[in-house]
This record gives sequence, structure tokens and C-alpha cells, in this order.
Amino acid sequence: MAEKIKVLFLDRDGTINRDIGTYVTTREQFQLIEGAAEAIALAKQAGFEIVIITNQAGIAKGIVTAEQVEDIHLYLNELLTASNTFFDRSYYCPTHPDYPHPEYDRFAWCRKPETGMVDRAFADYLASGLEVDKTRSFFIGDKTVDVECGLRAGLRPILVRTGHGEEELCRQRRIIPEYVADNLYQAITGYVLSSNV
Ligand SMILES: [Mg+2]
Repeated sequence: MAEKIKVLFLDRDGTINRDIGTYVTTREQFQLIEGAAEAIALAKQAGFEIVIITNQAGIAKGIVTAEQVEDIHLYLNELLTASNTFFDRSYYCPTHPDYPHPEYDRFAWCRKPETGMVDRAFADYLASGLEVDKTRSFFIGDKTVDVECGLRAGLRPILVRTGHGEEELCRQRRIIPEYVADNLYQAITGYVLSSNV
């Protein structure tokens, strides 16, 4: 039987790093939100796997390349090393419905709020003998689509007020997170780690 693990699925822009109003294309544009690295370190110490789930439609739009996105993720792990931590996996979705692209349209299933990236992570863990325990796993993000993706995937969604912080929009659309936090640090230290998971 597969060993059960608990996972923190994290949106990237506006949750881990500052939302700069457009797609992050360079390392210089990628700036951690205060406390994010420390929070990830604490979560990993508590036994969580860390998985980044990010829509990067700037790829289909021609604003950022897949190589740049992957370099930013390498850089994120370099930054996390300074806090003696790291993320385990990352998934990005290159598509956008308004920007058809011959190479990327086949990935339409992965764009949040679709659960394709989370499902892929579940499958990848299972392939290495690990089963994600959804009842002990969270999805943390700053947008309605993050909360919706978490709910659809059967995870416990948390909204952060950094980035877009779509608290009001969530209310209007009745897409209700389990918890709303000021930022990632508060989400993890004030809720996740005290939820007895
Ligand atoms: Mg975001």
C-alpha cells in the first residue's frame, strides 16, 4: 500500500513572490513576499511536501518562455536554500483560452481552476509509491481560481490577501476558502500548522 503524505500546494505569483502586475520573466523581477521562505521551511519541517502550481499563460501570449519560467523556479529554490529549505515539485500551465497556440492548446486541461496540474502531481507521487492524503493537504493562493482549484481537487483551500487577494470576489462567486490569511506566513503558522495535520 502506498505511503500517505501531506502536501502544501502553493500558487506562485502573489502568494510566494510579489505580484508585479505582469508575468515574471527575469530573476530580478522575482521577489519573495516577506516571511514566505520561512513559512515554507516551517511547513517542510512539519512534514509537508511543497508543490508549486502556477498558471503561466504568458508563455502562450509570447511574453515569457518556458525556459524563463523554469529558470525562475530554479532561482526560487536557490532563494529557499538561504532558509535551509526547498520546494519538491513545480507545475506550470502555458495556455490561455484567448491566445490559441499550436504547441500549447493541448494543455488547456491544466489551467486553474481546472485541476490538471494537481491531478498530475497526485499521479507523479503515486508513481513513486506515495499517496497524497487530501484531508491533510492544502491549496494556498491569492485568487478565486486557486480556491476553486483546491475545492475541485478535494484539497483544503486557503486564500491569502497578498497579490490579488480576491476575498470579495470569492464571496461574490460563493467560492469559499476554508481560511483567509494575511499572507503565506500567517496561513502556515496561524492555520496549517495548528490544524493538527
Ligand atoms: Mg497568484
